[in-house]
Amino acid sequence: MKTKRFFLPESEIPTAWYNVVADMKNKPLPMLHPGTKQPLKPEDLYPIFAQALSHQELNQTDRFIEIPEEVREQYKNYRSTPLVRAYGLEKALDTPAHIYFKNESVSPVGSHKLNSALAQAYYCKKEGITNITTETGAGQWGAALSYAAKVFGLELAVYMVKISYEQKPYRRSIMQTYGALVTPSPSMSTKAGRKILTDNPNYQGSLGTAISEAIELAMQTPNCKYTLGSVLNHVMLHQTVIGLEAEKQMVMADDYPDIVIGCFGGGSNFCGISLPFLRHKLSGQKNTRFIAAEPASCPKLTRGVFEYDFGDEAGYTPLLPMFTLGHSFAPAHIHAGGLRYHGAGTIVSQLLKDKLIEAVDIQQLDSFQAGMLFSQTEGIIPAPESNHAIAATIQEALKAKEEGKQKTILFNLSGHGLIDMAAYDAYLSGDLSNYVLSDEAIKQNVSGLEKLA
Ligand SMILES: *Cc1c(COP(=O)(O)O)cnc(C)c1O
Repeated sequence: MKTKRFFLPESEIPTAWYNVVADMKNKPLPMLHPGTKQPLKPEDLYPIFAQALSHQELNQTDRFIEIPEEVREQYKNYRSTPLVRAYGLEKALDTPAHIYFKNESVSPVGSHKLNSALAQAYYCKKEGITNITTETGAGQWGAALSYAAKVFGLELAVYMVKISYEQKPYRRSIMQTYGALVTPSPSMSTKAGRKILTDNPNYQGSLGTAISEAIELAMQTPNCKYTLGSVLNHVMLHQTVIGLEAEKQMVMADDYPDIVIGCFGGGSNFCGISLPFLRHKLSGQKNTRFIAAEPASCPKLTRGVFEYDFGDEAGYTPLLPMFTLGHSFAPAHIHAGGLRYHGAGTIVSQLLKDKLIEAVDIQQLDSFQAGMLFSQTEGIIPAPESNHAIAATIQEALKAKEEGKQKTILFNLSGHGLIDMAAYDAYLSGDLSNYVLSDEAIKQNVSGLEKLA
């Protein structure tokens, strides 16, 4: 019998995260202070983030950073996550490719987000912080952080993008079940929210706006810090536990990926699965391809510009050098597959600029079709986000078949879709269509960006 699922014993769960920046020849351009436009120092981030996280954010020298004992103890509740050989999908595609997926959907909250949520909550607690804030779009990050906050005894306030708050009531109740306070964004509770609501009372919210509100609340509340679930370097760092495990599990499978694929919102699950393997490409030992799969309706990697931009709508965050669609960008309402953020993290943006990774855009209907096939062949209903990675995997597996080549493909199953059935329902009812962002819309959104890169 062939082995289908590979697990690591507890003793093999990684004890350090991998910091790719230490190995990058071209480091990401520095983040800039939004006021002075000077490169940031860790101290500049202290008002917003825990100090340990501020240092991790700008660390360019330590290749490995120890995972604190308390965080490792929490990881043991669901890690290692299984590496799975997708025999069912391979058979359905009749492909010579070996397809593996790393199943992050087995975390208690159903996605990879918990890997960083636990780390961020831990460092905040350790530094004597009592309250944290964040934003959430689809609700995955909010759910993960709500649980992590409870684990480490912190009070959490979440700003949830209004359209999701209304369309995804169960995600809201999940956060509330874990004990978080959830407010739809834009709200009247912050200056940023009030301004947007005054200009446009019907605004449905965006991640950028919710981030502004969460940062503003953190800065005005004593002993309170802000946390973010993607985009930033320290989040990519924490997520490398995924790829570090997968690396050992691929050895157990006696295989090595030719192609590594992750869906792409702000980059955390893509970096999580990719960066540990990328280190062997940076050292010249391997020539693996890395593919970030993004929605055609939010195409910052394939069609955005590389510029300094804010991470949020109001411009409270540092200026980040990244591929962006402009910080005022909000995807079309017809888009149901998540991955709605306007920018890519600085690490990924530099790697893409240096052609060390690739990006593809996936049409909405193709992503759900891929999710349907995966559900029916592997039994797990994927998060709509993860469907983009599956669609890209299927494309590569079919290419391998056409070329008659055996390729080994590894993708990250970032989460399951059992709380996203409304999106599947819309697909099954024929209510979804493909949507491609127009060149004019992109041009208009990025036209206001200052040329600093
Ligand atoms: C948040 C999320 C994503 C997108 O965010 P990244 O930071 O790009 O990983 C993808 N899949 C799932 C399941 C998520 O919860």
